[in-house]
Amino acid sequence: MIQNEERKLEYYKALIEKKSDYEGVFYVGVTSTGVFCRPTCPARKPKYDNCEFYETAQQALLASFRPCQRCRPLSHPNQVSDIVRLLVEAVEQNPEKRWKGQDFKALSIDESTARRQFKKRFGMTFVEYARSRRMGLALKSIRSGGKLIDTQLASGYDSSSGFRDAFSRIMGATPTRLDDSLILRASWLDTQLGPMMAIADDNELYLLEFVDRRGLEREVERLRTRLQAAIIPGETTPIQSIENELSQFFEGTLTEFKTPLHLMGSPFQKSVWEQLMKIPPGETRSYADIALALGKPTAYRAVAQANGANQLAIVIPCHRVINVSGELGGYGGGVARKEWLLNHEKIGGQKNEKST
Ligand SMILES: [Zn+2]
Repeated sequence: MIQNEERKLEYYKALIEKKSDYEGVFYVGVTSTGVFCRPTCPARKPKYDNCEFYETAQQALLASFRPCQRCRPLSHPNQVSDIVRLLVEAVEQNPEKRWKGQDFKALSIDESTARRQFKKRFGMTFVEYARSRRMGLALKSIRSGGKLIDTQLASGYDSSSGFRDAFSRIMGATPTRLDDSLILRASWLDTQLGPMMAIADDNELYLLEFVDRRGLEREVERLRTRLQAAIIPGETTPIQSIENELSQFFEGTLTEFKTPLHLMGSPFQKSVWEQLMKIPPGETRSYADIALALGKPTAYRAVAQANGANQLAIVIPCHRVINVSGELGGYGGGVARKEWLLNHEKIGGQKNEKST
């Protein structure tokens, strides 16, 4: 979400004036209706206070907005193919569905054609689109804060409470007996690189990930089943702490993350993660370097796997591991973010050197 007040006023003005030169520059989510629009939408314009501005359609989807029926922010009426239109409509009919190969067959749509056309038109595949929409819905309660949920928790989970549905897909069934299960809290954090989700108990941070990370739903599910925990929206001390530290990190003023972490993995994975935390900001290592540092020089594949299994993005700096060749290699949150993080840390280091 765009936070800069000046920028928001500029976009609002463009929205009121339906300025076509702002097409593709921003999307506006309207909190009173739950839809998101392009700047030139012909519908009646929302009040400023009800507007949230996003740079990409995917961000608006992740923030739980659905595409407006009038301006169709995901398509240009003249250019969009029948396949794309059909699929966007199908998602709206059942936004929480997980798409499988047979679903495309049922609609007589070739899966790879759909993928190509979506990618070309929106910069994301259809599966990514459907997923963004689903995640946006599932995370809506987290985003709007835990207050309402706390009230429901206090009243003992009234079976009619609507938040069950929104949560059941990603967070699992809400607990029926709270007394004997661990309760983790989940919060939505807006960062410069897009929304992140933090999950913690009262003492430690368990998960920190970009919301659009592939496989996040599965990660959350694993966390929940392994710990037999209930995950509900809300804030705890570690979440407040990591939120502060992240904003300092993005400002370039943080020297060290101090939020207590809960590492969930095998002893080997933990040893890899501890090694990652020893890589100073502004520097990189290869998998082979890490394997060598652990005294297991041939174990670089296992190191790579442990690296990929990291659930605490940024804090455990798996982004500082690159290929031996010097190429960036992969990153769960996307290579663009990895590159941004590495540059950011390099610049931060230079700043510090100058100031001393
Ligand atoms: Zn619209």
